[in-house]
Amino acid sequence: MRILVFNAGSSSLKLGVFDIGAGGAAVQRFKGGYERFRAGLCTYRFEAEGRVEAGEVAHDDLAAATAAVPGVLADWGVDGIAAVGHRVVHGGPEIGAPVVLDDAALARLEGLTPLAPLHNPANLEAVRVARRVWPELPQIGVFDTAFHLTNPARVTTYAVPKAWRDAGLRRFGFHGTSHHYVAQRAAEALDRPLGDLRIISVHLGNGASVCAVNLGASLESSMGLTPLEGLVMGTRSGDVDPGAFGYLHRQLGLTIEEIEHALYHDSGLKGLTGSADMRDVEDRAGAGDAEAQLAINLYAYRARKYIGAYAAAMGGVDAVVFTGGIGENSASMRRRICDGLDFMGLRLDHDRNMGVDLAGRAAPQIQAYGSRVAVIVTETAEQLQIAREVAAHLARPVQAPRPIPVAVSGRHVHLSAESLAALFGAGAELTIAHPLRQPGNWAAAERVTLVGPKGRLEHVAILGPLRKRTQIEVSRTDSFALGIDVPVRDSGQLEGTPVIRILGPAGQIDTDGLIVAARHIHTNPTDAAAMGLTDGELVDVRVGSGDRALTFARTLVRVQPTGFTEMHIDTDEANAAGIGPGCEGEVVDLEAHLHPES
Ligand code: ADP
Repeated sequence: MRILVFNAGSSSLKLGVFDIGAGGAAVQRFKGGYERFRAGLCTYRFEAEGRVEAGEVAHDDLAAATAAVPGVLADWGVDGIAAVGHRVVHGGPEIGAPVVLDDAALARLEGLTPLAPLHNPANLEAVRVARRVWPELPQIGVFDTAFHLTNPARVTTYAVPKAWRDAGLRRFGFHGTSHHYVAQRAAEALDRPLGDLRIISVHLGNGASVCAVNLGASLESSMGLTPLEGLVMGTRSGDVDPGAFGYLHRQLGLTIEEIEHALYHDSGLKGLTGSADMRDVEDRAGAGDAEAQLAINLYAYRARKYIGAYAAAMGGVDAVVFTGGIGENSASMRRRICDGLDFMGLRLDHDRNMGVDLAGRAAPQIQAYGSRVAVIVTETAEQLQIAREVAAHLARPVQAPRPIPVAVSGRHVHLSAESLAALFGAGAELTIAHPLRQPGNWAAAERVTLVGPKGRLEHVAILGPLRKRTQIEVSRTDSFALGIDVPVRDSGQLEGTPVIRILGPAGQIDTDGLIVAARHIHTNPTDAAAMGLTDGELVDVRVGSGDRALTFARTLVRVQPTGFTEMHIDTDEANAAGIGPGCEGEVVDLEAHLHPES
């Protein structure tokens, strides 16, 4: 499927045409860009099959350049476009997947402009022009914020008055398409599933952010409500005490608009040195310029601080990935950031760091032999990732709505043979009290007690058969009763989970494996095909009825040969949706939320 991708920034337009095959295999057919718009002129660069053409052309602005694209593609012999993908910076709190950009979607996205005043208007302008130019093609938006919709409330919430939070003040995070792509690329390079890895993605371009990609999902990124929070950037400040607003207003008489403008456009490397370009800053620092030296120190220190913070947030880190113009090209910046991280098992190989070659989408590893943390460098490929997401979106099977029975799981434990022996005595066996609906699974007659620093939970059910590792599943409310911060995990993903004390009649154990089980749908290949679901997919499921009806986002689909089709949620989730016995859910399409009238 041939996809044209538009990445329209506030001052540039980047284009790519990709042929996306099965499994996301991609060939780039055309690459182009316009930038430096000024009165009646801009620069351009086009490239296809080894031929490059660059120069100046008479386009005043982004709209004029966008309108010229069909002619350029025709000149370069690129035809047969099936869909147009657009990078959109801000998708707000609901858009976690690609969206067809029709009138209703555009109107809705315009409402988000106050959240991304620099970026969204340019993105949407390109969409409008492209819709006029290619009225027959699907126009699909892929959102920078979407990857971060998995961030938990403790990450997205600012500790500010309720009225402000009700008005939409929260952390979103950006660069999601880039972080998602490089995390996948790093997992490929390590030949391990993304879902098993704790990755810190460090995107250092003109904009810069760090993202903790925990077991395949974004846990946190350093940008917040706007792309201003976090790292030092080309012209943006990154973290600044919000008290600065009052101070600057009172001391210098600056208005909110003046302060905000300076934080976006006259800060970062530019504010510190006069140049927003890291190459200039590095050159000047090397020539003895003290301002440039401080800028480099501060830039690297802030990035290293975030890496340390995110390693702590994830309880460890398997790989750090560098990308973006600075991350890809500046060996000295990578070195400054990584030096001093030996304490967490990260050591660079200096020769490999100096010899990085990214030709052919390579993702070289540059850690020293014996380093526990891999360090990877790779080019980001936001356009390619957008093309892949658009192709996957268009290739989705049409889902036939079918009711899915919803089952509510109370707190329970799965025991290993060693745990069983420690709790119930050597040679003890569990008694099957009643079978569960998933074939081969049952509830035992025996019970255990869970003990945490705040309290204990008695008569906790044991589910059989025995497993390789002990796993304890509680609700979020239970986690407060116990007094332990418990992560939401898919069953079996127990790396770095907290330790809990379990009491049995014959003894006690302290074991890790304590989780809040992520909601999921069990199903079998036949039902999955009928519902248009695939193993490992995340879907939205609407459950309950009336004023307590709820849509549960990101519900994992697990297809097993003998799976009994049933959605599993925990007691907190059931209470939130007022769910009782016999409740059913239905997989819904995200676009149905965007266009409730259609
Ligand atoms: P954008 O975020 O606009 O896509 P890029 O990812 O292209 O930006 O990053 C631009 C930054 O990368 C600039 O600060 C530039 O100086 C820096 N950069 C590019 N090449 C090098 C290099 N060889 N050494 C140091 N910095 C570099």
